[in-house]
Amino acid sequence: MKNIFNTKGLSSWLDIADESDFSIHNIPFGVFTYKDETRCGSRLGDFVIDLAQLGEDGWFDDLPLGNGSVFHKDTLNPFMEMGNESWTSVRNRVIELFQSANTEIRDEEDLHAKYLIPVADVKMEMPVQVGDYTDFYSSIEHATNVGTMFRDPSKALLPNWKHIPVGYHGRASSIVVSGTDIHRPKGQTRIDPEQPPKFGPSQRVDFELEMAFITGKGNVLGDHITTTDAENHIFGMVIFNDLSARDIQTWEYVPLGPFLSKNFGSVISPWIVTIDALNAYRTAGPVQEPKVFPYLEYEGDKNIDISLQVAIQPENTEESVVCNSNYKYMYWNMNQQLAHQTINGCNVKAGDMYASGTISGPTEDSYGSMLELAWKGTKPLKMKDGSERKFIHDQDTIIMRAFCEKDGRRIGFGESVCKILPAK
Ligand code: MN
Repeated sequence: MKNIFNTKGLSSWLDIADESDFSIHNIPFGVFTYKDETRCGSRLGDFVIDLAQLGEDGWFDDLPLGNGSVFHKDTLNPFMEMGNESWTSVRNRVIELFQSANTEIRDEEDLHAKYLIPVADVKMEMPVQVGDYTDFYSSIEHATNVGTMFRDPSKALLPNWKHIPVGYHGRASSIVVSGTDIHRPKGQTRIDPEQPPKFGPSQRVDFELEMAFITGKGNVLGDHITTTDAENHIFGMVIFNDLSARDIQTWEYVPLGPFLSKNFGSVISPWIVTIDALNAYRTAGPVQEPKVFPYLEYEGDKNIDISLQVAIQPENTEESVVCNSNYKYMYWNMNQQLAHQTINGCNVKAGDMYASGTISGPTEDSYGSMLELAWKGTKPLKMKDGSERKFIHDQDTIIMRAFCEKDGRRIGFGESVCKILPAK
């Protein structure tokens, strides 16, 4: 189904601030609780659109949504399983109902309070039940920085890196929605290789600035998804803060990779921005040399221009922006990542999540982790309150933001917010 509303000049009869992430060009999907009831919604400006109520009142009657109760759920998984015709049809219909010229709801003022709930009055929930979670390692700047720090700078990238979108299977249970506080993890570390390992609270808690895509309709075990077909399986994207304990990671990761250093909490933004909305911000990716295997080849612009920002807010003071990066720097795009994930016949399902890996840009202020920004602790960052940071302190709040802007059309993801509490 064609996304018919990626056009300039589109506006809504609702009053929406120019700098809002949630313009009529966006129409993301999420799950919210209002007056003790949890259901699926969308967002426009400072209002949550109650999709369950719209469906109940017949506004989606002509759409391919089964019996119409799919939004009366506490996850989007059943809706995502319906496939991209259903997703596109709902987004198109919502845009149609709320665009300036449409009078159907606009002129029925008693309906406004029924369908539009002030965002301040709702609690946002995890939008999906995450079945499986993969973390890729697809930013060449990040992989080069880490390789330079911990290995030989002349061989920073391992031999497989430009051939394989490297990734690992992580843990789904500890992926949480923005606003969830996370306790500093405890674990084993060995900072001094001449000394025995120690046990205690991590001294090197870090963020990883990532974006994640979420699959809708999956594939049958044994089949694979091509780079061309990938977008029919990808529902949308969220901001993904992959919290990491660097000291635990360094000691535990040999030989099977990260484990407890990565699964004490990963924090996503609550609104899933659809591929339909993001398509307007496509841009070319880097030239891939050496040439990739045919199953990883793709056509067209598959990177996306998404501005990314990270700020740290120490307790009781203003935030300091520590990083400005962009999703367009990715070496491997998500079509390639999903093709690689399934090339061996691995089946994916609705609600599965795939994080990009830390997204670092080419300049020192665009690195996507404290490890790189403070270069292994050798260049501490100055906060606005005068304090310094090599890694994250207790009571620090990490705020990640992401948005796209082109030709006066802005869409965004809102924020992923997470406070680090002392170890339990
Ligand atoms: Mn990661």
